[in-house]
Amino acid sequence: MSAIQDNLSLIKQNVQELAVKYNREITLVAMSKTKPIQEIMECYQTGHLHYGENILAKIPNLYVVETIDSEKQANMLSKQLDRKMNIFLQVNTSNEENKSGIKPENLDGLVEAVLQLPNLELKGLMTIGSFDNSHSEGLNPDFQVLMNCKSRIEQKYNLKLQVSMGMSDDYEQAIHQGSTNVRVGSKIFGPRIYKK
Ligand SMILES: *Cc1c(COP(=O)(O)O)cnc(C)c1O
Repeated sequence: MSAIQDNLSLIKQNVQELAVKYNREITLVAMSKTKPIQEIMECYQTGHLHYGENILAKIPNLYVVETIDSEKQANMLSKQLDRKMNIFLQVNTSNEENKSGIKPENLDGLVEAVLQLPNLELKGLMTIGSFDNSHSEGLNPDFQVLMNCKSRIEQKYNLKLQVSMGMSDDYEQAIHQGSTNVRVGSKIFGPRIYKK
């Protein structure tokens, strides 16, 4: 096994154990963005099927888009599609200016708009959270904000939503707080090196 396959298998096992502990289905998304196809293939060979990329294009078999945070984006995506696409709405739970995501207080309006669009299937909510909150002890307040959004939206619109939160440094904490989809990059592939 390669180092990447080792990393993937350890994290998978860990996530699987937590899924049993919390009695909840959890999807591990390998954030393969910026990584060469060879490294992604190493994961694929182990049977892993979920990958995350940062670019949006007409990718055949694209399964879910997790970063919708405005009505304009939702409209544009729906128009470009010729089939149904699963989406997660990204929520800015940390209230940081530089983070994308819709503010929790504006989420309901966006949900209502998305529910009207023919090609979008609302599957869940996604957040990144602040760096500081993911590197401190105890409950992560940003994850708490997302879980509160989830409960409110589920009740108000009679939906069942997944929750995408948790990355390399905080996925265990995120699962502890209710995550159903963790997005792990550097703990599988190593640090990302961005070329200029
Ligand atoms: C890159 C990325 C991740 C993974 O980050 P790591 O800290 O490397 O695990 C998760 N979510 C999103 C949206 C990303 O772009």
